[in-house]
Amino acid sequence: MNKRKISLPMQILIALILGVAVGLLCFFTGTADFTTNYLKPFGTIFVNLLKFIVVPVVLLSMIDGIISMDDMKKVGSVGVKTVAYFLVTTAIACVIGLVFANIFNSAGLFPTLSLEEGAVWEKATSANFMDTLVGIFPSNMWDAFVKANMLQVIVIALFFGGAILAAGEKGRLCRDIVSSFNEVISRLMEFIISLSPIGVFTMMAWVVATQGAEILGHLALVLLCAYLGYIVHAVLVYSLSAQVFAGMNPIRFFKGAAAAMIFAFTSTSSAATLPVSKECAAELGADDDISAFVLPLGSTINMDGTAIYQCVATVFLATCAGVHLTMGQMVTIVVTATLASIGTAGVSGAGMIMLAMVLTAMGIDVNLIMIIYGVDRLFDMGRTCLNVTGDISCALCVSKWEQDKAKKNAK
Ligand code: ASP
Repeated sequence: MNKRKISLPMQILIALILGVAVGLLCFFTGTADFTTNYLKPFGTIFVNLLKFIVVPVVLLSMIDGIISMDDMKKVGSVGVKTVAYFLVTTAIACVIGLVFANIFNSAGLFPTLSLEEGAVWEKATSANFMDTLVGIFPSNMWDAFVKANMLQVIVIALFFGGAILAAGEKGRLCRDIVSSFNEVISRLMEFIISLSPIGVFTMMAWVVATQGAEILGHLALVLLCAYLGYIVHAVLVYSLSAQVFAGMNPIRFFKGAAAAMIFAFTSTSSAATLPVSKECAAELGADDDISAFVLPLGSTINMDGTAIYQCVATVFLATCAGVHLTMGQMVTIVVTATLASIGTAGVSGAGMIMLAMVLTAMGIDVNLIMIIYGVDRLFDMGRTCLNVTGDISCALCVSKWEQDKAKKNAK
């Protein structure tokens, strides 16, 4: 028998459609309790797995990232320019995401849901920026892990990563252990992501059955909000940087990057798109050695689309739970979403796991992810497309800067 395996995206799509169908059926027949009692628990297991994996993923991927900065010193000015470009564009992405999320929110397009009995939403504790600043320095490392205090976990990762680098040769064992654990945790994350269809089906059915068909309209709106953010970021930031820094017509840039953008949109993985991105960057005139450094690094740490998604999703979910975010909290979102996007692996669905980190950092209940989880793939397609475009645009700009520098030095 020739058994054909259905691909994961297809499984997720089928799960999404089935989930909505079952949800609507239960909603209209007044049997929403069935989904709460028998389907939601599987969704809860899935969210528990996400919560369980998020601390080790953040800790290890961040330390591993810092260790790899060691190589960056070797590439000197290219490394500094690349990381500066990544950080600035990601911070801009967060601001764009928050602006759109707030416009939609003020226009009353994001709902405050009547969350049913049995749901475990907690109100976010409002903290101002100074409290957040003091709170990110842990007095007890284990306490930070146990409570999944993500900002503290990031600080711990930064300290350990820096210390491993400072220890030099004597720190090698620690470095190898981190890299090895990081590899193992990445495999575990892949496994959890492969369970997505079960999560999508059960959560979609429960959300639709308890919130009614109306929730589908709200999900469409939050998707629209994220996509507007993606488009504006691409048009504003990448067109401008192509024109101003790389001296290239934006239309030519997007035409040249189109193959990678389409591949990223369908594969939802920056890492898998890497070979296509390399071709596009070469075709657009980026230096091969610069692309060889910028693109792999970008596919692991440069995620502008993911940053926009995390900002939009955080505001949306806070509103769903009836939480009003203050200006100080918005600043915290920019900082955490920038860091979270850096910590996001370039694989399908990873940004949603890191969304759990942003929510935890903001004191918002991670279980709220269930509301949007069912349509995460649709967010992921757009955000990966943007992530990859950002990497190519960086390769072009840095190439141009280095070419200009070489010309100046030659004079
Ligand atoms: N899928 C995205 C990427 O590979 C990461 C994410 O889930 O946000 O770039």
